[in-house]
Amino acid sequence: MDCSYFRERINLYIDGELGYLEVAELQQHLSFCPDCAAELAQVGEVRGALAAWGRLELATPPGFAERVMAAVELERAPGSPRAFGQAVNDTLQTLDDTLGRIPLPGGRTIPVKNVIGWGLAAGAVAVGFGRRRRRTRELKPL
Ligand SMILES: [Zn+2]
Repeated sequence: MDCSYFRERINLYIDGELGYLEVAELQQHLSFCPDCAAELAQVGEVRGALAAWGRLELATPPGFAERVMAAVELERAPGSPRAFGQAVNDTLQTLDDTLGRIPLPGGRTIPVKNVIGWGLAAGAVAVGFGRRRRRTRELKPL
């Protein structure tokens, strides 16, 4: 079994979605694979930062809502079509400029836009899976 097998399970492990045997298997691998152990620590750090972020009362700087809405309005304006990805990037950049960076334990920081980007990516994946599952069900003969 190679590391990619275990990398896929690290998120499930953190979510507590692995069975007893799978946990034992992963923990055994982590005990001798520093790469996967580091991956687990990193994913755990990000999850912790996200959880802490959700609990924080973030005071939005003056003009924040206006700037976000301006970015959204720009996207909607007819005659100025932009790629969805570009709009997301611009919005994330605006958020990044506005919110700055999230402090992590150990004195490191990560940009807020990265966290939001991962969230968007996870959401897109979840939506994609949902669609595929629905389509598969519709195609099945009765
Ligand atoms: Zn490994």
